[in-house]
Order: sequence, then structure tokens, then C-alpha cells
Amino acid sequence: MTILQLPAYNVLKVDSTEHDYHIVAEPVEPRRSCPHCQSANTVGFGRREQLVKDLPIHGKRVGIYVDTRRFQCRECNRTFFEGLPDVDERRAMTTRLVKWIGQQSLKRTFTSIAEEVGITEGTVRLIFKDFVADLEKTVRFETPKWMGIDEIHLIKPRCVISNIQNNTIVNMLPNRDKKTVVNYLYNLQGKKDVQYVAMDMWTPYRDAVQAVIPDARIVIDKFHVVRMANDAVEKVRKSLREQLTPKQRRGLMHDRFVLLKRERDLNDRERLLLDGWTANYPELGAAYKLKEDFYGIYEGSASPQAALSAYEAWNKTVVPEVRDAYSDLIRAFTNWQPWILNYFDHPVTNAYTESLNSLIRVMNRLGRGYSFEALRAKILFTEGAHKRTLTRPKFERKREPGFAEMGFGVPDEAIGYGLPSGSFGKAVLTPKKEAPKTERQHEPPGPPKNYGADISTLVRMIEAGEL
Ligand SMILES: [Zn+2]
Repeated sequence: MTILQLPAYNVLKVDSTEHDYHIVAEPVEPRRSCPHCQSANTVGFGRREQLVKDLPIHGKRVGIYVDTRRFQCRECNRTFFEGLPDVDERRAMTTRLVKWIGQQSLKRTFTSIAEEVGITEGTVRLIFKDFVADLEKTVRFETPKWMGIDEIHLIKPRCVISNIQNNTIVNMLPNRDKKTVVNYLYNLQGKKDVQYVAMDMWTPYRDAVQAVIPDARIVIDKFHVVRMANDAVEKVRKSLREQLTPKQRRGLMHDRFVLLKRERDLNDRERLLLDGWTANYPELGAAYKLKEDFYGIYEGSASPQAALSAYEAWNKTVVPEVRDAYSDLIRAFTNWQPWILNYFDHPVTNAYTESLNSLIRVMNRLGRGYSFEALRAKILFTEGAHKRTLTRPKFERKREPGFAEMGFGVPDEAIGYGLPSGSFGKAVLTPKKEAPKTERQHEPPGPPKNYGADISTLVRMIEAGEL
């Protein structure tokens, strides 16, 4: 019968109430051979009704009451129930329902699915877990040659693993301790291919990378170092507050963005504001100049050696009045020097920091009612967000544009009508072009590659309400 769209079943009866369909059905072809000895010599031995949940129909929950036949084997005497086609018997659901719940669980809250289908939230969670475990096995992201390890705050601090060259997320770890990162790296296929790891100055990340992939070069991302110079300016600004009248304090609070901006990016009005504050408060002026000079180390150094001597020269200019404010930066530079300096050999940096932050911000806002595991699966496994290589070489146009303008559906002979046949062949057909052949040779062999979840696509999808 058509209501179920399950050809393996005969529908015997359909009842419908305000919220539910109750459908009685039986398998068209009983599976009557003995599962113990495979003998076909079996006889009927009673029936039993099994309730199987199915996809909602017309907004109503669906229960299928399957009249399941029992048989006895004449060879080995054992009894058994017929196996039900298209049913996940462990879950008492149709296999298509299990699949649908898995897919929906990446898009919706577990409670809303549970309510729609008429099952418990716990059951949805179990199906989600199996669905994600399956995806983990089948969806394989390319191991980044340039790996980023970042911290984000999703309910609590987590670790994001990214592909820096592709601006994609390849994994999210539940926390950022050494054990978790070691475990991830240890099980990473192709971990030997990781050349660079860009990270923040967080010891567990460094220790994990050194322990598992010692050949990868650790680079402290520029962003994490220079922002400490901004933090120093903020510290000086805050320390001034006590000397200020409430009005001045509000003014300085309002103008703090001017202090954090790069000098070259200031407009005339902002420059005037900056001059005013730094003339009246020399400490603020000193802190600002040191911040600018520190950025200058990153902009002007062509090698680790050059960066180190520029830093040492800079360090000598840190006046006692602001030394305290800059102490965190100075300490970090001392403790992390080799890895900070690696940047000047290999300027590996995350271009996606901003979009990653806005993604996580929206995720946190929309994420109420979702667990970290659900948010992680949403980010990693939303199909439309994956960045892949093409499955096939790009479609190559065999005919030049002029051909189409002449109109489709015209018989081939007719197109040449009126044209000298020589010019036709030359202008319209492009025989034996060598270029496509050589291009194709550059195509990577084997299956298409999946580089992970594209951060800007995720941001776009979440803004459009598609995530
Ligand atoms: Zn048997």
C-alpha cells in the first residue's frame, strides 16, 4: 500500500488520530528459512505483534504494528521470528527513520526531533552518537600541512584544529589539555606530513606537538604576540584612571580605540585625539610608541636574527614607567623566543581568526539547547560547508562561444550553411588542443580530497539560518 512507501510490506489497516497514525502491516515475503541451520524446511509457529516507529506522515507520528510470524525449523527444531525487512530491530524503528533522525540531529535540537517522531530524547541522542561515529569513519579530512591550533570558547574552552592554507576547520577537541591534543595528533593519519603548526603560547599545545610530531616546526602566530602590546597600552590606560576626573575617564575610555589602532591607520581627527592624550599623559605616549615599535619588529625583520636584535634594541627602550605594563610581553618573548622567532623564517599565520571568532560567537548564541558534541558535529559535518577538490576534471568547453550564439537545436549541417566550409572548421571547432590534456595530468590521482569545513561558508550558512 502506498501510505508507507515500503514495498516490502502489506498494509493491513490504517487508523489515524489527531496526532498519530497506527498502521498494521506484515512483510510481503516472510523470511522463513531457519537462521540457525539455514534450512528452508520450516512451519508456522504463531505470531507476535511488534511496534516499529517510522517517519512522520502529514505531521503525525507513525507507529507500524508488524504482525511478525514465528516459525519452527523441522531440521533443528528451533523456533525463530522472521527478520523484518527495512527495520532496525534493535531500535524498533525503520532504517529510514534512523537515518533521518541522524541527519536531522545535525540541524535541530534533540527534543524537537523526539517530539516530532514520538520517541525519547535519549533515543535521539544515541542515534546521533552512532550517526556521528559513522561520519567520523567515512568523512576523512586531509591532514593540514600547515596546522593551526587555536583556542575557542564554546560553552567552555576548546581546541580547534585548522588547515591554515585552506581556511578550514578539521577538528574540534573537547578541551585543550596536553593529553587530549596528544591523543588527537597520535591518531592523526598522515601526521608526518604536518610541516608547520601555528599556535598561541600555550604550553600543553607545544608539548603535545613536540611529543608526537617533533619534525613539525612550531610557529607562534604573530597575532598572539602583537596583541600583548595592545594589552600593555590598555594596562597603562587603566592605571591612569585614578588621576582623571570622571569626565576625562569617560573620554579616555571612549578614545581607547585610537590608542589600539596602528598609527598609520589614524585619520586626522584620531591623530589629534592621540596627540592630546599622549601630550597630557607621557606614560600613555611612551606605551603607545612602544606598541608601534613592537609591531615594527614584525614588519621590518627579514630573518630570526634580525628580529632578535630588533627586539633586544626595543627592550632597551622600555622606560621604567611602563615596564610593568609590558612585563607579560617581555616574559612571553623570553620564554617562547625560539618559536616566536620561527615566524620570521616561516611567516605562517591564521587568516581566519576573525571569521572563526564570529562563527563561534553566533554558535554560542544559537547553541543553547545543544551539547558541545552536537555543535562540533554541526561544524565538522555539515555537507555543504566542506571544501573539496573536484571529483572530475573541470568540464572543458569543446566548442567556442560563437557556436552557442548560432542557436541550439539547429542541425549541424545547417549551421555551416552559407559559410565557407574552411572558415567554419577553423572558427567553430577547436580540434586537437593540447592544453586540456596537460592540465589533466596535474589533477591529483585517486578520490577527491576533502579539506574540512570552510570557515567563511559556515559563517555565511549560519547567517542565512541554514546551519
Ligand atoms: Zn534449523
